[in-house]
Amino acid sequence: MEVERKFIKIGERPDGSKVQLPIIKIKGEIGGPKVFIGVTIHGSEVTGQVSVWKLLDYIKKHGIKGELTIIPVMNPEGFNYNVRGIPESTIDLNRIYPGDPNGSFAERIVAKIWEIAKQHELIVDVHTAGKSIPFVILDPAPQPLRSKIEEYAYSMGITVLDEFPPEKYERRALAKSLPGVAIKENIPSFTVELPGYRGVDEVGAEAGYRALKNLLIKTGMIDGEFEELDNLVPVIKEKGYRRETIQSNYGGLVELHKKLGEKVNENETVATIRNVFGEVIGEVKSPWNGYIISINASSRVATGGSVASIAIKMKK
Ligand SMILES: [Zn+2]
Repeated sequence: MEVERKFIKIGERPDGSKVQLPIIKIKGEIGGPKVFIGVTIHGSEVTGQVSVWKLLDYIKKHGIKGELTIIPVMNPEGFNYNVRGIPESTIDLNRIYPGDPNGSFAERIVAKIWEIAKQHELIVDVHTAGKSIPFVILDPAPQPLRSKIEEYAYSMGITVLDEFPPEKYERRALAKSLPGVAIKENIPSFTVELPGYRGVDEVGAEAGYRALKNLLIKTGMIDGEFEELDNLVPVIKEKGYRRETIQSNYGGLVELHKKLGEKVNENETVATIRNVFGEVIGEVKSPWNGYIISINASSRVATGGSVASIAIKMKK
């Protein structure tokens, strides 16, 4: 097995220091799949980097078949300064794929990632979702690609959800995310969201590692037994759910009444909102039946802000 670690230069900062993408390329026995794993396209989302260390430790001991490419930090600028996008800009790198090699700085970073990622048969984009359970998000895809993506996603052993409905998907420019462009090129791809708020979530990192290991077993890249993850993190095993956001009609401090993974009924109170004097100003009720997948991590909300995300059953 051959392991190569290097940096790919994208450009320079005003002071002449280099902006570069770290890349790990592992070549194993011939005949296996080609898999790409990318982490930290949102600079503040780091849990997946720890999952990758753990995965590399496993691979060192057990070897692989095929080729595995990992970019542990896809957004070096955001990572350095602990911001989602790029400092001094509000741009979201995961909304401008496939980028442009002669475009803006952000477009050049994304173009390089895409140039590398598209040479693979499976592309996994690892994020973190704050105080959340780990889950996979499936972008819309035509058949038979959709079935292939589902097969990989469910092999991970964590919750699998569909993206927002088409109007919201378009409005949020999610078709210009890494999985969005990969699917257009007929390459199976999805997003993995791990827990992590202002740093690494240790349980989330372990869950991410085991989920990625399960996935690589499924692809035939590594040997091993599928491992259930529901003793480590909440897992919604029912299929046919998608994510939604429960928004507050009031601004204030959030007092949550539900825990991660907990079932919620339509019209049930999820949170109480208090003003800065401590007085109750309103209740936030769930518009749907479902399961809590992430909760507001900052304990404060503006009108229209999210108090929690929920997995809801899709209408047939
Ligand atoms: Zn993200």
